[in-house]
Parts: sequence; structure tokens; C-alpha cells
Amino acid sequence: MIHENILECIGNTPLIKLSRLFPERSMTVLAKMEMLNPGGSIKDRPALYMINEGLKAGIIKKGSHIVESSSGNLAIALAIACKIHQLKFTAVVDPKIASANLHMLKLYKANIEMVTEKDENGGYLKTRINTVKKLCEKLPDAVWINQYANPDNWKSHYFGEAEEIIRQMDGKPDYLVVGASTSGTIMGVSRRLKEEFPDLKIIAVDIVGSVLFGGTSGPRDIPGIGASAVPALLSPEEIDHVIYVDDYESALGCRELLEHEGIFAGGSSGSSVSAIKKLIPGIAEGSCVLTLLPDRGDRYLDLIYQDEWFEMVRHKHFSQQHLRPQNPVLQKVF
Ligand code: PMP
Repeated sequence: MIHENILECIGNTPLIKLSRLFPERSMTVLAKMEMLNPGGSIKDRPALYMINEGLKAGIIKKGSHIVESSSGNLAIALAIACKIHQLKFTAVVDPKIASANLHMLKLYKANIEMVTEKDENGGYLKTRINTVKKLCEKLPDAVWINQYANPDNWKSHYFGEAEEIIRQMDGKPDYLVVGASTSGTIMGVSRRLKEEFPDLKIIAVDIVGSVLFGGTSGPRDIPGIGASAVPALLSPEEIDHVIYVDDYESALGCRELLEHEGIFAGGSSGSSVSAIKKLIPGIAEGSCVLTLLPDRGDRYLDLIYQDEWFEMVRHKHFSQQHLRPQNPVLQKVF
């Protein structure tokens, strides 16, 4: 089969068993390899879906200038989609963006607006959104994709990887473990899978320092997971539990994934691996746990895979242990 363009290669990612990393007898941990999308991440799916639906609805037209706030992966995915559809694109990014992502965006010839001021939560999300709003007032033909509130974000995952998982699974999953940021992935995947598997338990993974599920705002280094404001897409009542991990636990998860499975993954994949390690002792033998590995490790070479940074977060993890709740394994959200 010959594809017309790179956008047609998005999706149809494999589902693999992580049996070396999770050798516990009779437990199955399955991972959807979203990192294998052509733009390098799961965000190819919402980028393509939001652009296509915008074009269909006439909100996006020839000559439109797409504007979006992104920590990196969505920006790269939109840069590709805009190139194929010949649309102008401005990415509003912050200093936490991985240097490789910034370099790639420049190569794709995206316009880049770098914000520098932190918001009152100590993150950049609100500053980025304000910058998007100002750009939309200034730029003719600007269209704000708004991944934090656009229902086509969660729908891309509902019709995308969730549908594929249903086709790929032999049995039924008992737990879905997903890292959250805009929450488009967890909302979309869980809504579709619960139609098929009503007993499925939905476990969100959040990072210490994120405010998504009522956590206290604080410093965190890993991009892609967590948020400094609660997105409109998030419906916490649809989520059964949240498991918190910190930067160190996420990085450790990445390094274990590499060592045992030969999978070179990004930060939020490591967050999910660590969350599953916390989950397993508390669940029934024979359970099947499903997760997604959202992006590859290349963009994190100077963070997660850099020994000085790893030592720094390891030290922080152990020196601040007394500040964390004693048994943060399963926390009911609301
Ligand atoms: N992992 C990575 C690497 C991401 O880039 C993102 C999106 N920021 C997520 C997880 C979380 O996905 P969502 O925004 O759909 O919650």
C-alpha cells in the first residue's frame, strides 16, 4: 500500500507485552507503542484529528494561521500537519521545552513564541494561554486549536488508539494506567474502552507538583505530564484512582524500560511504569494492566538520560521522602 503523505502513517501502533519488566506470575502488562507515530508521539493523533475536524467545519480554511500552546509534542505534530495542509503555524512554548524539540520546530519552520514568565502556580501554562490569546487578537486568520478544551482532542483518542486496542486485545483489560496532562488521552481512551469493558478501572498518573487532581503546585522538570492548571477536558468523576510519581520515579521507570525491554521511551512512559509498580501489589493476581507509551527517549537525552540530572532528582526524592504521604499508592480522586 502506498500512502499519499506522512499523515496517513499516523496510528496503527503495536500493542506489546512488558513481560521482562513485570515478570510477576500471571500478571499481564500491555503497552500501546504510541511513540512509534511518525512525529514521534501520541500527539500526532489529536493534531491530525483537530486539524481535519476544523477543516471539515470550515473553522480552519486555506490561509488560516494555526496557533497553539504546547510543551513540545503537540507542537511538532501540528507543525507536520500544517506543513502538509499548507497552513501557517505558531507554537507558544516555554523554557521547559526539550532542546531537541525546539530545534525540530525550527527545522519545520514553525514560528516560535517563547514565554519566560511563570504563572502563580509556578508553571507556564497560564502565561502560554495568555500569549495565545494576545496572538489571536493580533494575527489575521488566527485559529486557536485549544487542546485543553477542544473535544476533538479526546475524540482523537476515542476513535484512535482505543478502537485499535479493542481490535488488538485477546482478553479484557482490568486496569488502564495513563499519564495525564490535557487529559485528552485518558478521557478518550477510557470512554471508548469502558463501553467495551464496563468493569475497567481507570487509573490516572500525575506527577508530584502538578495541580490536575488537587495536588499542590510545585517544581517539576519532566515535560508532557501534569499541568499547572486544571484543563476543561478533565472529568475527574470518570477516573477511579490517581497515582502520583515524582521526576525521579519517572526517570527510573524510563531507565528500567530501557534496561529490561529495550524500549527507549520519554518521561511520561516512565511515569506509567513506576505507577504500575505501585499498583501491582494491591491488585488481584491474574490482572491485565493496559498502558500507553506516549513518546520516545531521544528528546530527553539531556534530561532523563543524563546522569547529573538523574542524581539530582534522586537526591531530592530521598531527602524529601518524609514530606510525602506514607502510603500514596491508591488515592481516590474526589
Ligand atoms: N505524555 C507525553 C509525552 C505528552 O506529550 C503528553 C501530552 N502533553 C501526555 C503524555 C499527556 O497526554 P494528554 O495531554 O492527552 O493528557
